[in-house]
Amino acid sequence: MFYPEVLILPFVLSIALLLVYLSLENPADYTDKDLGILNRNALVTTAASYFEQQKSFEVMGIHVDGLHSVREVFGVSGEKEILNQIARFLTSVVQNKVFYTAGQQFFILSSMSDNEWNYIADELVKRFKHPFTFNGVDVVLSINICMASSPNTVKCIEDVTDFIEYTQHVLPSGENLKAYLTEKELHSQKRTKQIQQILKTAIVKKQFKVYYQPIFSLEKGCYSSAEALIRLQNDELGFISPDEFIPIAEKSGLIIEIGRYVFREVCSFIADERLCDYGIECIDVNLSAVQCMQERLHEELVAIMDQYNLPYNFINLEITETAAVASSETLRKNMDKLINYGVNFSLDDFGTGFSNMTHLIQYPFHTIKIDKSMLWSAMEDEKAMMALKYTIAMIKDMNMDLIVEGVETKEQVELLSSLECKFFQGYYYSKAIPEEDFLALLKK
Ligand code: C2E
Ligand code: CA
Ligand code: CA
Repeated sequence: MFYPEVLILPFVLSIALLLVYLSLENPADYTDKDLGILNRNALVTTAASYFEQQKSFEVMGIHVDGLHSVREVFGVSGEKEILNQIARFLTSVVQNKVFYTAGQQFFILSSMSDNEWNYIADELVKRFKHPFTFNGVDVVLSINICMASSPNTVKCIEDVTDFIEYTQHVLPSGENLKAYLTEKELHSQKRTKQIQQILKTAIVKKQFKVYYQPIFSLEKGCYSSAEALIRLQNDELGFISPDEFIPIAEKSGLIIEIGRYVFREVCSFIADERLCDYGIECIDVNLSAVQCMQERLHEELVAIMDQYNLPYNFINLEITETAAVASSETLRKNMDKLINYGVNFSLDDFGTGFSNMTHLIQYPFHTIKIDKSMLWSAMEDEKAMMALKYTIAMIKDMNMDLIVEGVETKEQVELLSSLECKFFQGYYYSKAIPEEDFLALLKK
C-alpha cells in the first residue's frame, strides 16, 4: 500500500522528486545494480535534503536475519533472488522510499505519522511470517526493525551513517519489533566508531603499553609469574579499559594486529630483562577467540619466540571458555602444536559463563584461573562459598594448577590458603604495573 497523502505535502514532493531524479538520472550512483532500488548513497542524499529543508523525518532500519544461510545453501544467485523478492515486497508497501545499503539491511526514510509507520511495521511482520521461495524451496527469514527519528535523535548526516552501522551490529531481536534508537545507543555507536579509529592509529603509532600483574606463589613465598595486560591511553578519551576496547578490536578484526603486538612486546621484555633471574617462571598472555581461529597462529607465535630466543615454556597462553567454544577445532590444533613445543595453556575466567566441565576435560589446559567474581561472591554467600570450595577441590583432583584472581584482602588470602590454593593474583599483591615498576617489585 502507498500513502498518497504523504505526497501532497510540498516539501516531501520535492524530496520524492529528488528520489525519482536520483534513480533516473544517475542510476549507477544512486541505485543498487542488482536490486534496482535506491542505495546507501541515495539514502544519505535524501537525509541531507531533509536536513537542508529543516524538515523532520523518521528512518526505519530493517535487518533481515537468515540471509547468510541462504547464501550458504543456494549460493550468491539464490541470495540475490531472495533479496529481490524482499525489495519488491518493500516497494509494494512504500514506493520510492526503500533503500538497500548492502548486506542484510534495508531502510525506509520518510516523514510519516506514527500510524503510517505502524502500518508498515505490521505489514513487514505479517510478510516475514511466511516463507520466501527459491527454486520451489521455502526460505524462512526473520527481521529486526529499528527506528530513529530526526531531529530528536538523528541530528546530522553523521548520525544517519552511524544509524546505518548500528543496524548492522546491534539490532534488538525478538519482541520489540519497532524500537526507537535512543540517543544513548547512538552515542555508544559513535564511541565504538571513535575507539575503532583510535585503535587503528594506536596500532600504527605503537601507542599500546603492556603492563604486568604479578602472580604470587604461596609455596615459594614470592612472585613466580605475571599476566601481561594491555593498556591504552588516549589524548581525547583518556584511559580506555581493555574491557571496552578488546571487544571492539575483536569485532573489527584489529585484535589480530594488537595480539601480535602484545606477544612481541612480552617476548622482547622477557628476553631483555632475563626475568628468570628474578624467580619468574613464565608470563601469561591473553589470546582472543579471533586469534585462536587462525589456522597458522602456532607458526606465528613460535616464529616470534624464536626471534627472541625464548624458551617456549616461558609463555603461558590464557583462553576463555567463550574462545574455546568459538574456535574449537582450530584452537585444538593450535594448542596441540604449541604444547608440543612446551607452551602451556590456562583456562581463564573459570566460574563465569557456563563453566562447562567438558572444556576442562576436552582441552589440554595446564592451569585453571578462577574468576574474581567467584571469589567475591564466596565472601558474601554460603552457597557460593560451597561452589568455590568444590571447584578448587575438583581442579586439584584433576591435577591441574589453579590461580585465583581478584584477591584483594588479607581475609581472602587466608581463606584461599586454608583451601590449599597455591597461586594468587590480585590487588592485595599488586595491580598491573608498567615494566619498570614490575622489575623494581621483583628486585625488592
Ligand atoms: P582478564 O584476562 O580476566 O584479566 C584480569 C583482569 O582483572 C584485569 O583487568 C586485571 O587488572 C583485573 N584484576 C586483577 N586482579 C584484580 C583485583 O584484585 N581486583 C580487581 N577489581 N580487578 C583485578 P584489565 O587489565 O582491565 O583487563 C580486562 C580484560 O581485558 C582482561 O580480563 C582480558 O580479558 C582483556 N585483556 C587485557 N589485556 C589483553 C590482551 O593483551 N589481549 C587480549 N586478548 N585481551 C586482553
Ligand atoms: Ca586473563
Ligand atoms: Ca580472568
